[in-house]
Parts: sequence; C-alpha cells; structure tokens
Amino acid sequence: MKNISSLHVPHNKHTDKLDPIRIAVPSEVVLPMNMHSGHDAEPIVSVGDYVRVGQLIAREEGRFSSPVHATVSGTVVEIAPIKHGDGKEVIAIRIESDGKMEADPNLKAPVINNCDEFLQAVRESGVVGLGGAAFPTWAKFNEAKNPDYKVDTVLVNAAECEPYITSDHKMMTLHPDLIADGIEYLRKYMSEYLGEAVFKICIEKNKPDAIEVLKKTFEGKDYVVIHELDAIYPQGAKQVMLYNATGRVAVAGKRFPSFGALIINVSSLAKMAEYLNTGMPLVERIVTIDGPAVTEPKIVIAPIGTRISYLMEQVTVEGEIGKVVVGGPMNGTAVFSTESPIVKVANAVLIFGEKESVLPDYSACIHCGRCIDKCPINIDVVSVEKHLRNPNEAKREKRLIETGVRQCVDCGCCSYVCPANRPLLAWNQDAKWWLKQYAASKREGGQN
Ligand code: SF4
Ligand code: SF4
Repeated sequence: MKNISSLHVPHNKHTDKLDPIRIAVPSEVVLPMNMHSGHDAEPIVSVGDYVRVGQLIAREEGRFSSPVHATVSGTVVEIAPIKHGDGKEVIAIRIESDGKMEADPNLKAPVINNCDEFLQAVRESGVVGLGGAAFPTWAKFNEAKNPDYKVDTVLVNAAECEPYITSDHKMMTLHPDLIADGIEYLRKYMSEYLGEAVFKICIEKNKPDAIEVLKKTFEGKDYVVIHELDAIYPQGAKQVMLYNATGRVAVAGKRFPSFGALIINVSSLAKMAEYLNTGMPLVERIVTIDGPAVTEPKIVIAPIGTRISYLMEQVTVEGEIGKVVVGGPMNGTAVFSTESPIVKVANAVLIFGEKESVLPDYSACIHCGRCIDKCPINIDVVSVEKHLRNPNEAKREKRLIETGVRQCVDCGCCSYVCPANRPLLAWNQDAKWWLKQYAASKREGGQN
C-alpha cells in the first residue's frame, strides 16, 4: 500500500457553495427491492394500497438485507420487475404520488435500552452505506461485537473524493448536529465495543467550510478527530482511508474490523441519527446534478425512487446527451435508461455530452507502468487481461489471484492514466466477477 494515492483529478465541485433545493414532489416513485447489498427485500404491500411517507413497504429478507419504505404518499400502482443495466431484473414497487407527502402517523423515535435494541433500530431505519457500498449499516456495526475484533477506531468517511459530488459535503455543513448525534448513539449503545474508540472524521482539505463546521461542532470532544486528507483520488476507498488515517494495511480476504477499525459514510451516520431522533427512516437524500453537459448544476433533496429523467429536468443541458452516470465520473455507473429511479446510494446524477461519451479505441500496452504506479492497492493491473484469457481455468484463477485484483476498489485510476486507453477497470471487474463465479462453481462441485 502506498502512503497516499496520488491521482489528481479535476474537482469540478461546482455545487459546493449552493444550498440544496427540495424538488417538487414527483408524480411517482419506483422503489427496487435491491437498494442494498445482500438479499432483496420482500414487498409487504399490494397494488391499490394507500401508503404514507416512511411506511414500511418491503421487509428485509435473509441475513444481510435492508427494509424499504414509501418515499411519497400515494397509491401502490404496480409491483413488477424492472430491468437493470446488467440485464438482470429486480422487483420494484411503483407508487403514484398524491402530492401531499403525508408522513406515516405511526412513525416515532424507537425506544432503545441496549445494544441489541440499538442494532435492531438501525436495521429498521433502512440506512445502508450511502457512499456507494450499500452495505446495511446495522450489519457493519454488528461486526464490532465479534470477540475476535478489537475496534479502536471508527473512520467516518467524509472524503467525497470523486469529482462533482457534493452530497456528503452538504450533509456536513447543514447537519453537523446529526453527525454528532450519530457518534453519541454509537458511544452510548455500543459502549462495550466502541466506548474507547476514537472517531476520525476523514475529510479532504478541499472542503474548508465543512472542516470549520465540524471543528466547532466537536470542540472539546477528545474522542473525535477531524482528520484532514489531501484532496487526492481515491481517498474515500476504505483501504486507502484505513492506511492514511491509521497506518494499517488492509489484507485481502479479511473483514475490515479485523484491522481494528469500522468505517461508515458520514451521510449514513447522519441519516441513522435522524431515524433514531424522529422515527423517519431513509426516504430521501441529497443528490448533485451536474456534469459537462449541464450549464447550471444543482444540488437537490429528492425522494428515493425518483426517476432520473425527472431529476434531469431540474437542470439545463447543452447539446445532445451522450451518457448519464449515477455516482462519480471515476467509478459511477452509466445508466441503462433515464427512466430508472435513483436508489439509496445515488449521490449524483452526471450528464455528459456526446463528445465526452465516446470511448476512444484502445491500443497495445506500451508497458509504461503508469497503471501500476497509480493503483492505490498495488495491483498488478497490467497482467489482469492476459490472465483472464488463460484457457486453463485453474491457472487462470491462480494467476488472477496473484495479481491482487480481488482487492480492486474500482477506483478507475488505472484506466484514467493509461496512455493506450486500455479499459483496465472493465477487465478488473470481469476478472473479479469470473473469480467469484469460479469459486462458487468449485464449491458446488465439492472441489474445495
Ligand atoms: S480500479 Fe482497481 S486496479 Fe485500477 S487503480 Fe483502482 S484499485 Fe487499482
Ligand atoms: S498504463 Fe496502459 S500502457 Fe501503461 S503499462 Fe498500464 S496498461 Fe500498459
């Protein structure tokens, strides 16, 4: 692991001085059952049901899962599969809004007396890793209870190192109280496991106003450190943050708390506190709408499940649209259809013109080594494609594992610096997918 990753990407944080605008209530929302990592949630409403904001509409299913709540008031008009960009289908609940945004009258702050009740409440909040990982937040905290781990550091991930995105930034400047509440809840209800832990809020130096607000908020609290990081991509990758904030190296195949640390996105922490304070689960989020084709970028508060097309109507776009990305330009996802909804982790919608959307042809590797040099995880990225084509599956697996590609954090630095325009990130993703499938097929075949 390098001391710090060293890729300077243009910040393009055009919306960091703007206040988020609450968008007009969309006519409908579409809520997929897989807005988190783990098992899909299970719908508990039927077509024709009237629902209110915050009402539980799909319960968590399986060991790692997260519930889904209505994000507008109105009528459930459809429960049917929708298509993902990868061609897979997932069940989604479509709610036609009545425009009233009536809150569920049964919502109230949960009563919590101990750690188990706390974790159950976080579970019911529907909060997941809002920086992109979508791992259920309760499950992350639950890991700290494992007697094999001794967590002494909680990393609050406030790096927001991708260009354009300002969602976490706004959460910090507007709601530092919720971030403080989140930390106090953890100290109170998980005191046995996190009582002695230091909370390091890891934030890039390009957010001076947020740093100032946080310093004021946590003045006199010696268990909170505002850890300022250079604005260098990808500071927000958990392995990079762990090293830069603690000097510890994340080893492949080990759970994160085994390094003595938990990591939680700053907006997840705030949204968790909001639920514990009020009983309102995760129903809306801050979204940056920007990109090279946008003339007047905005930052908005939108119900989860709002169609991307409706968000795009909030800004003015110049020229023909080439592609729309949810998340950052480095490791966000180009959307399959702008009729898709924004999900819990959608921190940005970026609109690119036709010119910026054309992928250049790639050419032969000139062995310059830049991809390896800029990889924050020291992956032998240049060899991945070659091994991926090895016809001998056992050797393919061995060689790919040796490259370290399983630890790839999808930051895209390798592709970004490659002078031959080789699609290294895509190959890494193919390699990781293949390794998982191959391991699963070996398990099924009883080879291991
Ligand atoms: S995408 Fe993966 S291989 Fe490429 S630089 Fe990032 S971590 Fe390294
Ligand atoms: S950056 Fe591109 S050209 Fe250079 S070694 Fe890596 S793959 Fe080859």
